[in-house]
Amino acid sequence: MTGLQVTLLGTGTSTGIPVVGCSCRVCTSADPRDQRLRCAAYVVAETEAGPVHLVIDTGPDFRQQALRFGIEAVDAVLITHHHFDHVVGLDDLRPFFFRNRKPIPVYAPPDTAAVLGEMFSYIFRDGTYPGIAKLDLHEVAESWMVTSREGAGAAVEVTPIPAFHGTLPLYGYRIGRFAYLTDVSTIPEASLPLLEDLDVLVLDALRHEPHPTHFTIEEAVAMAQRIGARATYFIHMTHSLLHAETDAALPEGIHLAHDGLRLQVDGQRATVERP
Ligand SMILES: [Zn+2]
Ligand SMILES: [Zn+2]
Ligand SMILES: [Zn+2]
Repeated sequence: MTGLQVTLLGTGTSTGIPVVGCSCRVCTSADPRDQRLRCAAYVVAETEAGPVHLVIDTGPDFRQQALRFGIEAVDAVLITHHHFDHVVGLDDLRPFFFRNRKPIPVYAPPDTAAVLGEMFSYIFRDGTYPGIAKLDLHEVAESWMVTSREGAGAAVEVTPIPAFHGTLPLYGYRIGRFAYLTDVSTIPEASLPLLEDLDVLVLDALRHEPHPTHFTIEEAVAMAQRIGARATYFIHMTHSLLHAETDAALPEGIHLAHDGLRLQVDGQRATVERP
């Protein structure tokens, strides 16, 4: 792999920001960085044999995100867990399937794969209704190779990072020197070696007030400093966090992400391109 381009498609908590019906200072902010779609990321891994295109989570805003940020291809989907704000856009993968009619692999933790099979039984169980996408659901437990659906032999290694969302086991994912962990309140000691030597870490940081299933800003800062990536970006924020104010108060090397943030990870350094 010669480099990764990561686009954060959404950085907001499960309601999205602005919250419907809310007139707080964040929901009415004129700063576009205070408008947050539901969390997802698009990762393009450049390899000698060509690019591999990955989407991490397909929530309710996936169609809008694909249009806004110009997603042209999807070789695989990495699902972190089965909550609404991370999976209900799966059906909007159809245009990517129709393009070459090759099944799109969807990778998920075992518990999540079982729930997805129920939630989307018409896709994963029946699979015969005309016009549906062919999505292949895979439970993963260890590192595996994702290959391009264009057939040029391009492939990239993905490593699941086991973590907990309250008591719910879920995965973050590592690709090269980039790792993405959303909706986490505990990262077990056993997972920390999988997060060594990162250029970019994207990490859940909900708000300042404690929450049973998400890191607070303060908990996320402590974990980011322990992991020690060269740069860390926080996601899944509620409307209690004004972007400019919160970002300015974070320690060096730790930033509040915003929708559309593009990160170039080339194995040596991380650069940020602000839209
Ligand atoms: Zn979430
Ligand atoms: Zn609000
Ligand atoms: Zn969740």
